[in-house]
Order: sequence, then structure tokens, then C-alpha cells
Amino acid sequence: MELKLYNTLTRAKEVFQPLEAGKAGIYTCGPTVYAEAHIGNLRSYVFPDILKKTLRRLGYGVTHVINVTDVGHLTSDEDTGEDKIEQAARESKRTAWEIAAEYTEHFFADLERLNIEMPDFTPRAAGEIPKELVERIKSLYPRYASLPGHIPEQIAIIEKLEAGGFIYTIADGVYFDTAKLPDYGKLALLDVEGLREGSRVEMGDKRHKTDFALWKFTPEGARRQMEWDSPWGRGFPGWHVECSAMSMKYLGQTFDIHTGGTDHIPVHHTNEIAQSEAAYGQPFVRYWLHGQYLVLGEDERMGKSEGNMVTLSKLMEEGFDPLAFRYLTLNTHYRQYLNFTFMALESATEALKGLRKSLMDSEVGKPTPEWPEPKIPKSGVCKEFFKELCDDLNTPKALAVLWTTFRNKSISSKVKQELADFADRILSLNLFDYRASGLEFNIFDRTAGALYYSGDTDKEIVLLAQKRIEARNQKDYPTSDKLRDDLKKLGWEMKDTKDGYFLERHLKKP
Ligand code: AMP
Ligand code: ZN
Repeated sequence: MELKLYNTLTRAKEVFQPLEAGKAGIYTCGPTVYAEAHIGNLRSYVFPDILKKTLRRLGYGVTHVINVTDVGHLTSDEDTGEDKIEQAARESKRTAWEIAAEYTEHFFADLERLNIEMPDFTPRAAGEIPKELVERIKSLYPRYASLPGHIPEQIAIIEKLEAGGFIYTIADGVYFDTAKLPDYGKLALLDVEGLREGSRVEMGDKRHKTDFALWKFTPEGARRQMEWDSPWGRGFPGWHVECSAMSMKYLGQTFDIHTGGTDHIPVHHTNEIAQSEAAYGQPFVRYWLHGQYLVLGEDERMGKSEGNMVTLSKLMEEGFDPLAFRYLTLNTHYRQYLNFTFMALESATEALKGLRKSLMDSEVGKPTPEWPEPKIPKSGVCKEFFKELCDDLNTPKALAVLWTTFRNKSISSKVKQELADFADRILSLNLFDYRASGLEFNIFDRTAGALYYSGDTDKEIVLLAQKRIEARNQKDYPTSDKLRDDLKKLGWEMKDTKDGYFLERHLKKP
């Protein structure tokens, strides 16, 4: 089976051809860690997770990098304004390092809650943590403290660009001269000439409107919390050069796939391409994948700066299963807008519960622990399901295959089990975790005793159920019916199955 991906660079769905047989490198622009990620940001990490798990199923050895932007992302894409992290530090009277460390850890926790597998590398852009803060950061935020910094790698790229004559220096920093690169703006299909003719007012001393900062200087007489020496002066790296340095370090100067949100197409990714290709004279990335926005109502993009953020922690405080949010994102194709409402999340919660319950009703109890990797399905429902994912990660259609299969009474439990096993290793919705949807159950086998326990069902309940089975076996139907009613009064539904019986209790939303 081939994997087709929509490549922003060519504006077409293309068959994925790896640079090196059997291997795939993916770089995903990471969060700017000055605040908690909102659920729009998090949407942009779900589809690379599906991509990675799909590639793996196809037999690829995947290397995935998500960076941490802990310095250099300014409040304006025009290379003006304050560094978002320094600004958050000033406003909260904390150190920039603590802010970055706290929200990095928060981001990792969000990934875990959403069953997004941790990437192989999570490099961060800033330099070493200052000596006086190291111990405190280590004890409070050990994961952040263990991440490597990348200032020398960024300086090395700027030096290469300097040698190639691509940079110039003005009062506030070192800039990339976009007029030196004939195909500048190819990703966004930018009307570069039109932009260059634009007003000079927004440009400051820059030579061209599209030129961008590679290194910004600390202003005369000022001190930043995060600043380093460089051959051009003391300061900090531009946001774009960070991603070029960290992606190429871990994946090579040309690599397979780069992902991010659509907002990055015209500036951030355009500039990553420009400086990387100018520095090394070869194509930077082969496939660019962009996830569309999560919005609130018509066109209102959720954004940290827009002040309309909903976070995963907030959803959890309100009693939602984080995986219901994952389900919600999977139910819309990653290249479509996702309009977030609480009603839609309620429906996703019910839908996920419905999927889990339909498995339970089909007596599909547990995932198969041993799973041969990789395994590409050759036929049947698994193939149908996988075919949708291989078509530019069409998760809504893949979910539809689950629904039609799990609900079809004429399809055997064995086939459903196979599909659930296969699908959940990619969709990661914990399909077998009935308790997460507030469903408690117990299935018994007449001969083998208890098969599955979802929880600690009261002994009293189990005894009543067993008594009822005995009565039924002895054809004492009045007693059997009475015991069934007794169980019902205690909140338990007892259903007979071909192998034994099945107890189900509906709990309140966890
Ligand atoms: P940031 O933390 O702002 O650097 O953004 C992290 C990721 O979230 C980037 O890939 C952005 O493109 C993406 N992003 C930002 N806002 C949204 C949104 N409303 N919906 C989907 N993705 C978004
Ligand atoms: Zn980036």
C-alpha cells in the first residue's frame, strides 16, 4: 500500500517516497512556551502522531523531532516587538527560564494525556540554563532541564550564510537578504514583488520587506534574561533559524517531512526554507504538511494572543476525557477547519463511548498484547481502514470504517477484535478502556470462570449473577427473572451471551 500525502510545496497529493529506503524523518514545529498550549495548538500535534504511526505500520523506521521554542519568538512576525517569553516573565515577575521550563513540562503532559507519542528528540532553542538557576530548574522541571540547548548550531548556520553573502547587519540585528534567493517564497506562492513594493514604514532599516532576522542584538544599555555572545554581537537567535538548526541537526540537511499549522506557511516555513537552502545549497524538506486551524465559530482562530484560549486542563476540569478531544480532532480531516464547540465535544464524548461500548457488546474485551510489527493488512476491514489513512491521513473515513464494522451484528467478534487491535495502535483512542467512558462491566465464562474484569465488581453482585445462571441452567425461570430484576435495582444490567453472561453498570461521567 502507498501513502499519499498532500504536499503544500506542490499543492498536490503525492505518493510518499522516502529519502532513504525504509526510513522517514519528521520535524514538527514545537510550542512557544510562554503560556499553556491551547487546544488549537494541540490539534497541530495530533495529525503528526497519526502520520508517524501510519508510517510505522507501513514498515518505516521513523525519527520524529518536536522542538521547544524557548527563546526568539517575537510578538510580531515582522521581527519587531518583545520576545514572548521575556514579556511573560516581565508580566509575571518570574524568570524567563522558569516560564519556559514550566510550560514545556505542561506541553509534554498534554501530549501524554492525548496519547501523542513522545518524539525521539525534543531539542530546545535557547542556550544553557544560567548556573544560578540550574538547581532550581532541575528540581522543579527536570524534563526541561535535561533538554539540550542549540545556540552554537544556529550560529553555525548564520556563519554559513555570511560566507555565502546572504546576510547584512543593521542596528537591531543580522538579517537574511531575501532578494539574494531567486525562489524565495515558493512554499507560500508569495507575491514577493508585490510585497517588496509595499510601504517602507513597516520595514525599519531592512533592505526588503521580506528580509528576516537571523540574530537580534540586545539593545544598547539593556539586558535580556536570555542572551548570548555571537560573532556579530550579544543577543539572541531569530525564531526561524532555530527550526532550521534543530531539524537539520537531527534529521540531516535534506529530510522527508515537516509539519506545522497553516499560519506558518507565509513567514516561518518560508524563511526556514530560504536560510536552510541558501546555507547548504540543497533542498531542505521534501514534503510539507500543514494542519488547518481549530476555530471558534466562523473564522475566529483560537490563539494565545487572541485571548480566546481553551486549554486541555480546562476541558479536564469540566470532566471531559482528553481522548474525547482527540476523537473530535480525528473526526475532521486535518486540512479542514475544525469548529470547536462544547456541544461538539459532548458529541465526541458520546461517540467515543459508543465505539467502546459497541466493542464491549461484541464481547471484544482486551487488546491482543503481542502484535507483530510491521503488519500491512492485505484484505478485509483492516485493509479498508488502513486504506483511508494512507489517503492523506483520512481519519474521519477511517473512523467510519470502525463504526460500520463494530455495529454490524453479522461481523464476528474475531474480526472486530482484529480491527480494534489494528486501529487503536494508530488512532490511540483507548478503545478497550471502557471505564474511561464510565462503563463498568464484567464478563464471565460458564466453564472458565471470570474472563475479564473491568473493575472491582461487588462480590454480592457477582454472587447474584452466578445464582441467576444456576437458576437458568436448572430451567427455574421465575427465580432467574427475579434475580435479574434484583440486579437491575442495584444498578446492574445482566445480559446473556453465548459463552456466559455480561454485567454492565453505567456510572456517572468520571
Ligand atoms: P506556537 O506555540 O504559537 O508556536 O504554535 C504551536 C503550533 O500550533 C504551530 O504549529 C501553530 O501553527 C499551531 N497553531 C496555532 N494556532 C492554532 C489553531 N488555532 N489551530 C490549529 N493549530 C494552531
Ligand atoms: Zn518552526
